[in-house]
Amino acid sequence: MGEPEPSRLVEEILALGEVFRGEVAPLKDEQELRAAQARFLGKKGSLSELMKRMGSLPPAERPRVGEAANRVKQLIEEEVARKLLRISALRRKRDLERLVDVTLPGRTTPNGHLHILTQVRRELCAIFAELGFEVATGPQVETDFHNFEALAMPADHPARDMQDTFYVGDGAGTLLRTHTSPVQIRTMLTRKPPLAIIAPGVVYRRDDDPTHSPMFTQLEGLCVDKGIRMSDLKGVLLHFVQRFFGPGLGLRFRASYFPFVEPGAEVDMRCSFCHGARSDCRLCKGSGWLEIGGAGMVDPRVFEQVGIDATAVSGFAFGMGLERMAMLRHGIHDIKLAYEGDLRFARQF
Ligand SMILES: [Zn+2]
Repeated sequence: MGEPEPSRLVEEILALGEVFRGEVAPLKDEQELRAAQARFLGKKGSLSELMKRMGSLPPAERPRVGEAANRVKQLIEEEVARKLLRISALRRKRDLERLVDVTLPGRTTPNGHLHILTQVRRELCAIFAELGFEVATGPQVETDFHNFEALAMPADHPARDMQDTFYVGDGAGTLLRTHTSPVQIRTMLTRKPPLAIIAPGVVYRRDDDPTHSPMFTQLEGLCVDKGIRMSDLKGVLLHFVQRFFGPGLGLRFRASYFPFVEPGAEVDMRCSFCHGARSDCRLCKGSGWLEIGGAGMVDPRVFEQVGIDATAVSGFAFGMGLERMAMLRHGIHDIKLAYEGDLRFARQF
């Protein structure tokens, strides 16, 4: 006991501040820092241990020791606060580096758009709707009756050879429809004239080359009413061509044979690229005309098959390939491009 004791205790207490600072300097973790704080300032911490010795000091010396204790406590708490700030800043920096590069451009969700064939189908339906045609659909797996028989193509008819058919099952009566004409048959079997329908849809044939695909899309039209004439057919197709390919384009009919129409015609339109003015035109190959489909007046035998009185009404029918319409309009040379799902192609339309 005596004089040196209180000042040594004060020194020891004040030294705690430096010891603490040295001990926590390398720490990078809040928990470790809190543990160190408890070791120094806790109930059983270093400061408390030193303060126990205050009891043996003369009362006059005690305030100095108390002051020193308060100072070092404050020092340690300030150091903890400083250190906490640095630790949280470090942690944020680490998180940012690990998770987010704030300099990267933002992620965008690309907008899709309708496929070229869907666009063309919808546009054609809208054009014919302007003339009062309604859209009709039917099954893709058909019976021989709806696909051939009712369309004046009995089993031995040579026209069947023109449509190489995919048969289903045993091959007798079920097949993948080779055209959308069975939709016309189904409509006439269930409804009475006047009728004006278009039937867009997928059909199947055993064809495979740059301009033919085993699966393609047709759009057929049928109009049945009293006094329907071939000029009505021509007017409807002229409206379609001028709305879809451009104003001023003419049409020509070439006599042709289809079993279910009489008379029948191949329909050509003026070349939409050269208008018949260039002998070196690659689209029409110099002919000035582009074939767009087949058409004709409904054969009375078809009306017979579906129970419509052929002496009371008449009608016309036409058919075209949807892919061909898209190819002619956009100058696409290979039909398969439309099915391959290549985005470089799809994005062009
Ligand atoms: Zn041309």
